Amino acid sequence: MFDDSPKKPLPKSVVSVVLPLALEAAYSYTVPLAMALEAGDYVNVPLGPRLVTGVVWEIGVAAPAGMRLRDVREKFDLSPMSAIQRKFIDWIADYYMAPLGMVLRGCLRAKGIFEPPRMKVAYRLTDIEPQRMTPQRQRVIEAARDLPVMKARELADEAGVGVSVVKGLAGQGVFEAVDLPPFAPFAKPDPMALLVQLSKSQGVAAAALRGSVTARKFSVTLLDGVTGSGKTEVYFEAMATALVAGKQVLLLLPEIALTTTFINRVEERFGAAPAEWHSQMRPRERERVWRAIASGEAKIVVGARSALFLPWHNLGLVVVDEEHEPAYKQGDGTSYHGRDMAVVYGSLGNFPVILASATPSLESLVNVDVGKYAHVTLKNRHGRAELPQIELLDMRQIPPQSGQWLSDPLVDAVAETLAAGNQALLFLNRRGYAPLTLCRTCGHRLQCDECSSWLVEHRFKKHLMCHHCGHTESVPQKCPACGDEHSLVPCGPGIERLAEEAEARFEGAKIVVLSSDISRGESLHEKIRDIAQSKYDLIIGTQLVAKGHHFPDLTLVGVVDADLALETSDPRAGERTWQLLAQVAGRAGRGEKPGRALIQTYMPDHPLLEALEAGDREGFLTHEKEIRQSAGMPPFGQLAGIVVSGNDQMQTESFAMSLARRVPRVADILVLGPAPAPLAQIRGRFRFRFLVKTTREQDIQGFIREWLKDVQPKGSLRLSVDIDPYSFL
Ligand code: ADP
Ligand code: ZN
Repeated sequence: MFDDSPKKPLPKSVVSVVLPLALEAAYSYTVPLAMALEAGDYVNVPLGPRLVTGVVWEIGVAAPAGMRLRDVREKFDLSPMSAIQRKFIDWIADYYMAPLGMVLRGCLRAKGIFEPPRMKVAYRLTDIEPQRMTPQRQRVIEAARDLPVMKARELADEAGVGVSVVKGLAGQGVFEAVDLPPFAPFAKPDPMALLVQLSKSQGVAAAALRGSVTARKFSVTLLDGVTGSGKTEVYFEAMATALVAGKQVLLLLPEIALTTTFINRVEERFGAAPAEWHSQMRPRERERVWRAIASGEAKIVVGARSALFLPWHNLGLVVVDEEHEPAYKQGDGTSYHGRDMAVVYGSLGNFPVILASATPSLESLVNVDVGKYAHVTLKNRHGRAELPQIELLDMRQIPPQSGQWLSDPLVDAVAETLAAGNQALLFLNRRGYAPLTLCRTCGHRLQCDECSSWLVEHRFKKHLMCHHCGHTESVPQKCPACGDEHSLVPCGPGIERLAEEAEARFEGAKIVVLSSDISRGESLHEKIRDIAQSKYDLIIGTQLVAKGHHFPDLTLVGVVDADLALETSDPRAGERTWQLLAQVAGRAGRGEKPGRALIQTYMPDHPLLEALEAGDREGFLTHEKEIRQSAGMPPFGQLAGIVVSGNDQMQTESFAMSLARRVPRVADILVLGPAPAPLAQIRGRFRFRFLVKTTREQDIQGFIREWLKDVQPKGSLRLSVDIDPYSFL
C-alpha cells in the first residue's frame, strides 16, 4: 500500500532567544532546517512586525504547547557569546531583579557590530602600463609610487585629479584593489616592556598576586596599601603574568579616574596602548574595541564598570582599582555594583580578581576577616615619601569671619607652603558658588520647581542649577516671593566661592579650580597634567581631586569642611568620610618632600576624626564594624531600596500604602516605610521609599518577588528595586 497522505515535515528544533528589551524571559523560535545554531549565537528574529537582534540562550528547548512559533530569520557571523557571559547575565538579572533583556542590552552597546565590518578598499600599483598615458594618469602613477596604499579618493586628491582617473586605471589593471582592515589593530602588549625595580615589600606583594594568577582559578585578593605605596606597580606585575599566560586582562577604574595620565602609565609599562572603554567613546571606537575583545586581539582593557559586559574571549584577570569607590555602583538602569560583579564574573569564569585600595571598603575588609579574600598589604610609601601628618583644626575656637571659610592657621599654612615654592590643595566637596540662595527680606529660598532641592548658584556659568535634575535658570534680579530687589544672598560655600576667597588672600598665586562640572574631558585631563607639572600653586577641588592623582610637589592639603558628609542618613556615611579624607590627605607629600593635612571641623571630638588624626585605622574600623553589626547593616545584613514614584502625589502615596498592606510577614525581615524619600520630588515626580532589611542568609530577592508578585503600577506610577543600595535619597 502506498501512503499518499502529504509528508509530515521534520519537526524543527526550538531555541530560546533573549532580546535586548525590557522583557523578563526568553522567547522561543524554530530553527530553519538549513540553519545550524548554537547557544550564544547572535541572531535576528521577528517580533511582531519587526526584526530584533538577540542572543540564542538555549538550544533544543521544548516547544511551548499550542503556540505557533516563528523561524529565526538570520544568524550573524560573529563568534557566539560565551557560556560564561550568558551565565553572568543570568546572574545579574536574577540578583538585581532586572529584566534579562535589559542586562543583555548593556552587552550590545556598540553600534555597527551587527553589520559586516566595512573593509576599506585601497589601491596598489602593479607592473601593468596604462594603454594610453595622459598627464593626469601620469600624476596619479607618480603619486602612488611615493605613497603607501591609499583609498581611491585620497590618491585622487593627492594627485589633484578626479576619482574616475584612479578607477579607470584600476579597470585596466594598472592598480589592484587591496582590502585594508576596517579598524586599526591593537598593538600587542609586552609584559616586560618596562621593568621596575620593586622594593622588598612590593616584591613580596607582587609575588602573592602573581601566585593568584598562576593558580588559574578563582580567588579574590585585596591589595591594601597606603596612598603612594606602589599598588599600581604591584598589580601591573600580576597583569604581566596573565598576559604571559595568553589571557586578556581588565583593569577597572571608577569612570572619573580614567585619565590620560593613567592610560599613559599603562602604555609605558606594557609598551602598547591599552584598549579603553568608557561612556565618552565615539561609536566607531566602541565598535573597534568590542570587536577586538571578541576576537581576543585586545589584551589589556582599561575601562569603567560597563567593560565587564564586553564579549570577552579569554579573560583571565580583573583588577578593580579604587575598589572602595561608591561610583562603582551604577546609578540608573540595572543598578549593579562594578566591584561586586567583577568578583561574580571571576567566580563564574574561574579566574582571579584583585581589588586595590588605600582605603578598602568595609565589605572587602570583612571578607578578609572571614577568610573569603586574601589580604596583601603595603604599609609604607615608596622611596623616601612619608605619609602626611594629619591635624584637626577646631573651628569652634578659630572661626573665620562671616562670609569666609578659611581659618587663620590654614591660611598661614597655605601661605608658607606657597612661599616655599610648593603646592597646596584646598578640598571642599561642593560644586558651584553657594549651595543655597535666600532672600534677606522674606527668608524665601530658591528651590527647583521639579525637585525638592535648593538651586545651587554657579557663578562661572552665571546660572542657578539643580544638582538633581540638571535644570538651570538665570539668577533672578528680584526675590520671586516678595519682589524685593537686591535682597538675594548666597549662603555657604561652594568651591567657586572658596576660589574667590583664596584669590583675595593669596595674591599672585596661580589657582586652578577642579570639579566635574567645570572641567570635562580633555580640559580636565590637561589641568591634571599641568598640576602634576607644577604649573599651578593652589588647587581648589571637589572629590574629583581626591582620587589616584600623583602630584609630586603637593605638600599641603586643607580640608575646608570635614563635617559635610557625616551628617547624612546613609549607613556608610562614616566609612565614606573616612575614605574621602584619608584619600585627599594622601595627595600630600607623595614626592620627596613631606606633606601635611589640616582638617577644619566643628566636631573635633568625633571618634572618626580623632582616629584619623591619630592615624588609627584599625581603631576606626573596629568601631565602624561594631556599629554596622549591631544595626544589622551591610556587610552584616542585606538591604534593598524600593522607590515608588509618580506624577500625582496622592496617587503615588496611596499606591505606596497599598504595597505596605501586602508586605508578607517573615521573621527577621524588616520593611521600613513607606516614607517620603529624602528627595521627595525629582523631575516633578513624587517619591516614596521602602527599605527592606534582612540577615545575610535570607533570600531578599525571593522575599521581594513574593511581595511584589502581580503588582502592576498603572499610569505614571513606577516601582524600582535597588538591591544593595548605595544611595538613600
Ligand atoms: P599607589 O597606586 O599605591 O598610590 P603608585 O603605584 O602610583 O602608588 O606609586 C606612587 C609613585 O611611586 C608613582 O610615581 C610610582 O611610579 C612610584 N613607584 C612606586 N613603586 C616604585 C618602584 N618600585 N620603583 C620606582 N618608582 C616606584
Ligand atoms: Zn531639579
